[in-house]
Amino acid sequence: MAEVVAPSTVEINDAVFCSHLKEVCQECDYDGREENDSFYGFETTDRDPIEAPAVTTNKDGVYQCKKHGSAECNQCFGWKKQITRARTAAKKAGRK
Ligand SMILES: [Zn+2]
Ligand SMILES: [Zn+2]
Repeated sequence: MAEVVAPSTVEINDAVFCSHLKEVCQECDYDGREENDSFYGFETTDRDPIEAPAVTTNKDGVYQCKKHGSAECNQCFGWKKQITRARTAAKKAGRK
């Protein structure tokens, strides 16, 4: 690899993902866990990445959930809950 190109990211209801809608992506060498953790006031842990549900974009290019057509859907985009769960699982597994 010659140049390091900053991967393009997207925001879904305040959480950051790579353009493939992954929080951790090998394809673009991206790891957004630290950013998302700090956004929600968590310390970074080696947790499993949160996963974006099926989304569509509206005419303004804003991501919204496919299920409810909402850009701020707390059911589909409940990141804090997902992160909390992943952190608990990581702690149980003895990861730091
Ligand atoms: Zn990616
Ligand atoms: Zn939804």
